[in-house]
Amino acid sequence: MSGQTRYRMDLIAPEFSARVQNDEPMSKHTSWHVGGPADLFFTPRDGMDLAGFVRHLAQRVPLLWIGLGSNLLVRDGGVRGAVIATHGALSALERVSATRIHVQSGVPCARLAKQCVKWGLGPAEFFAGIPGTLGGALAMNAGAWEGETWRHVIDVEVLDRSGVRRTRQPADYEISYRRVRGPADEWFLSANLEFERKPGTNEAAIRELLERRKQTQPIGEWSCGSVFTNPPGDHAGRLIESAGLKGYRIGDASVSEKHANFIINHGSARAADLEALIEHVQRTVAATHGVELNAEVRIVGEAA
Ligand SMILES: Cc1cc2nc3c(=O)[nH]c(=O)nc-3n(C[C@H](O)[C@H](O)[C@H](O)COP(=O)(O)OP(=O)(O)OC[C@H]3O[C@@H](n4cnc5c(N)ncnc54)[C@H](O)[C@@H]3O)c2cc1C
Repeated sequence: MSGQTRYRMDLIAPEFSARVQNDEPMSKHTSWHVGGPADLFFTPRDGMDLAGFVRHLAQRVPLLWIGLGSNLLVRDGGVRGAVIATHGALSALERVSATRIHVQSGVPCARLAKQCVKWGLGPAEFFAGIPGTLGGALAMNAGAWEGETWRHVIDVEVLDRSGVRRTRQPADYEISYRRVRGPADEWFLSANLEFERKPGTNEAAIRELLERRKQTQPIGEWSCGSVFTNPPGDHAGRLIESAGLKGYRIGDASVSEKHANFIINHGSARAADLEALIEHVQRTVAATHGVELNAEVRIVGEAA
């Protein structure tokens, strides 16, 4: 593990220390099932509890907020600092008017999609295809089947590094395909989202979309979904496949035979294998097609 400073329990206020884990393996919290230990790992009770935790934590401790880890490659040396897990914590989901809902950032997108169907609101079916939380979807501008998260955002509530909560508007962010840039050192607590009344929407339609996706993507295997964003006017999967990389393997990680923009951990891959494979795909596609592929997945942490 690198010589970076490790952050320990003595930095945690006594009222929180019983609920903070030391050296929590991040492989338990990522859909690729890889990642070394986080120095400190905290699951808050609610937004107020989380604001208190952040306020009491020394400013020098770096924070990483995570949802369901479905777009996250954590390196084998783990995370120096504190990881904040929103899933299972910030889980309120309520209708606030005929077409508007309030969603906390730990709510799984699949639950959001289902509830909108029950309320007769849409188009929210696309959220069913995103196996992460609303917080991750806001950070990534996640989308599927022509739908995109930020098209529905009225405003968001954020928490900053001093533990101060504030409301922000979409105009405070630069938003594009799978990319959101906003004020530094702020994270999403919740959002107000707007939909249309769509009484015709039903769960069978969601099931059908998911079923169709299963035919073309390796759903059920350990992956992070699409590894690379699509370059303008093309598909990363097409470029990778035509560069002859389907099935290419490093350690226990390989480019999926079913969909070339997916990389699979077959069980014992390390983050280093996955990262080496990502870099190999980028080099090969650049050499074959002259196209630079950008990673959609977020790569964090220290090498082993
Ligand atoms: C099988 C599969 C299929 C997928 N299909 C799609 C798809 O169709 N479309 C799509 O867009 N994505 C897809 N993904 C990728 C992934 O599900 C999305 O990017 C999702 O939005 C990530 O949410 P998460 O909660 O898992 O975020 P994480 O992976 O936990 O985090 C992702 C990033 O968001 C940040 N983050 C998380 N929560 C917060 C917060 N509250 N505030 C600020 N930052 C935060 C993290 O720090 C990190 O940088 C797929 C993944 C898998 C495994």
